[in-house]
Amino acid sequence: MKYFCGIDIGSTATKIVLTDEEGKIAAHTTAPTGSHFHKNAVEALEALLCRQQIKRQDIGYIVSTGYGRKLFKEADETISEITANAAGARNSGEGAGTFRTIINIGGQDSKIILLDDEGHVKHFTMNDKCAAGTGRFLEMAARNLEIEVDELGDYHMKSTGVPATINSTCTVFAESEIISLMAGGHSREAIVAGIHYSIARRISRLAGKIGIEDKVFFDGGPALNRGLVASFEDELMREIVVPETPQITTAFGAAVIAQEAFAAEGEKINV
Ligand code: ADP
Repeated sequence: MKYFCGIDIGSTATKIVLTDEEGKIAAHTTAPTGSHFHKNAVEALEALLCRQQIKRQDIGYIVSTGYGRKLFKEADETISEITANAAGARNSGEGAGTFRTIINIGGQDSKIILLDDEGHVKHFTMNDKCAAGTGRFLEMAARNLEIEVDELGDYHMKSTGVPATINSTCTVFAESEIISLMAGGHSREAIVAGIHYSIARRISRLAGKIGIEDKVFFDGGPALNRGLVASFEDELMREIVVPETPQITTAFGAAVIAQEAFAAEGEKINV
């Protein structure tokens, strides 16, 4: 049995997906990227292979993507995360073909990708200049509210009244705004909902500029946050498709491309 490996070395988390010969996900893992990108990625891959009892020589092809992709010298090929994300989304089986827009929020950036009829990239835009509207912003907010980032969704869903207003788009000012709101007696639930709406509004405005079509596929780690998903539904007034494991779509797309590249090399040899 041959396996294909997609490795997405993101600013926050390294995601690895192994697919089998049928293109199905055989195993995946997520580990902190940390400051030692290469060492941590190699260790995460070794741990995954050991856990699955798969030998290194059983991997036919490795494609790396993401922020730290060029540092992963073991890869047979390197691709952009935009290409990998689109490949992952169109092969995800989650309503593939019914959406033409991907919103991806990562640790340090957010992207909007428009797809053509075949699910390939037609156009994209990216915010990687400012932490507002990224996973880092959510991490900062959770820290100030003294809750975990994976609890934000539950706090949002429990909020009943009007969400608190967060006006600052800059993380540093938003941090003082959150502290002032807490001092002013606003509940954590209302503040969390306000934060999610401010992110959804900001990204929806950006998406509106390049033109959203059909349903929206939402992925990246923050898509695990159902409060943020609900805010996007309200802001965009469209159905949002969230895959089961939204953090690994890009790594999965890299594995899909790895399998295609392996097949193409085999064809070259057989000519
Ligand atoms: P990158 O590829 O840039 O490393 P990811 O797509 O891995 O980014 O997303 C990382 C972000 O996902 C974190 O900054 C955090 O905000 C968010 N996140 C991670 N796990 C969860 C979770 N369980 N619930 C909600 N948000 C999460």
